[in-house]
Amino acid sequence: MKDFSIDNIKKIMNLFNHLSTATGEYYYLIDIESSTIYFSSNISNLCDISDTVMINAWRKTISQYDINKVVSNYSSLKKDKIQEYDINFRINGHNGLQWVNSRGKIFTSNKTNKRYLLGRLSTVDTNANNRNLQTIKRNLKQAINKHEKGYFIIFGIDDLKNINLQYGRQIGDSIINDLYKTIKDEISESPVQRIGSDVFGAIIPQKTSKEVNKIYEAIQKRMKDECAISAGSVSLDKYYANDENILLQYAETALYYAKMKGKNNLHFFNSEDYEKLLKEIKIVDELKRNISNNFKGFQILYQPIVANYTYEVVGCEALVRYICDNGDKLSAQYLVSLLEKHDLIDQVGLWVLDNTCTQGMLWRQHIQNFNMHVNMSLAQLSTNKLHNELLNIINKYTFLDFITIELTESIELYNYPYLNDIIKTWKSKGIKIAIDDFGTGYSSLSRLQQLTIDEIKIDKSFVHNMHENIYNAKLVKNIIDLAKTFHINVCCEGVETINELKALSKIKNAHTLQGYLFAKPLSANAFTNQFINDPNPFNNLLDD
Ligand code: C2E
Ligand code: CA
Ligand code: CA
Repeated sequence: MKDFSIDNIKKIMNLFNHLSTATGEYYYLIDIESSTIYFSSNISNLCDISDTVMINAWRKTISQYDINKVVSNYSSLKKDKIQEYDINFRINGHNGLQWVNSRGKIFTSNKTNKRYLLGRLSTVDTNANNRNLQTIKRNLKQAINKHEKGYFIIFGIDDLKNINLQYGRQIGDSIINDLYKTIKDEISESPVQRIGSDVFGAIIPQKTSKEVNKIYEAIQKRMKDECAISAGSVSLDKYYANDENILLQYAETALYYAKMKGKNNLHFFNSEDYEKLLKEIKIVDELKRNISNNFKGFQILYQPIVANYTYEVVGCEALVRYICDNGDKLSAQYLVSLLEKHDLIDQVGLWVLDNTCTQGMLWRQHIQNFNMHVNMSLAQLSTNKLHNELLNIINKYTFLDFITIELTESIELYNYPYLNDIIKTWKSKGIKIAIDDFGTGYSSLSRLQQLTIDEIKIDKSFVHNMHENIYNAKLVKNIIDLAKTFHINVCCEGVETINELKALSKIKNAHTLQGYLFAKPLSANAFTNQFINDPNPFNNLLDD
């Protein structure tokens, strides 16, 4: 590369494109004189910008929190105060704010004396700040080699996402900083490392579990006005762990259990957890193997959904099952939580969707307006790539008006910026949207208005004992009345007894019902035999 003539810029960009395919990074050349940036063409995967832009256009992509830092860095380069740079900042990427690292150097053309900046941009994974993770792993390894006694502890901020959403990222960031300082204050024996976006770890040598607990309580107390803190801790020498990765996994498991126990507490990794973890590791290995083996052991069961009053079968809900190689059955909730935790839910979710679309189309041919309900967790929509894979399946069908996608309600759901666009795409295919487990999360019907949804499913905890529980009965009635004003259908889940059914039939406007009273989830064959061939099997249900 002798000179940066405009022809060479084309060549350079060509080279950038090859490099970016090979490394997954983004490359750029800035012509300082003309304020033009030439990016490798993969930049459009990261944010909404083309490969040749003026600096001002690029600046608009940079987050308001970091723009001053970036501008001042560039101005120092222009003034020749610095020749090289290595900075982190946030940009408004396709998936929201994204940390990037930009590193580069000034070059001067021998021929024209023009100055150029040549650099590369890479995304920074704030969920695993590798440098710190490596340091903590190194320290853990040393502790293992020295047969050190004491504890390893990790701290996590409870509900940081909600704090960010409610008060803004700057507050979230300042809480992270405060926690870091507080932990450093309370644990003076060893360095504190940030090992995840809101997770810090430290080794506390020579202390007993009681002393570790005291340290945790001191940190919890000092932070209590800002946030709640959960922590997981593991003894350095009690559980057989000759590997730093295993110790880290034990601590992460303990933190996970602390959060499961209701957050804002410290959980010590114990032998029961150890057994559970070993079992989980085995199951996850098996799940991965069997997913690649054409989803061996996975099964979809179907539970009927009936119309209120007539009890005709008008649809079903698809529920995933897994039977282990040794014949054990996992509960759907445990299975789905494992799939989510280990990033397997997208593959399984796509498989479920593909199969249920085929099955739903078949049953629709027998029962007019038959609706196949498919569950989907927000994790399955978390990236463009996942959503595109989902679209590949959806696009196999001309029209999917027999599919309802059930999304569990959560604060993330309402604040997920792309959901409306995604829903719009689905709707263009005729797909309907239901909000699942309504009433258990962050529901408010007015919030539902923001989303164009078709149905809510009232959680079974409200339907349970409705005939005896006046509060539940009133609540269900109010939800149904309000939903009606928004033209949203209502399905009541978990109808188990005739008494609950009678209580529900007194409330007008509940459209559909689902529950063990009608049927438990069944295999496709059993469902066909019992309900497709006879769609009105419950017409005598209320006859005495
Ligand atoms: P969900 O979406 O709320 O599904 C309804 C659950 O209630 C099912 O449990 C169903 O068997 C159970 N159920 C139905 N009627 C009654 C009743 O009368 N009484 C009682 N006590 N329970 C009843 P299941 O199959 O164990 O599924 C549990 C959860 O796992 C589901 O809750 C859903 O959140 C998740 N899940 C299941 N399949 C999938 C899937 O394919 N994808 C995703 N993302 N999640 C799934
Ligand atoms: Ca559901
Ligand atoms: Ca539900």
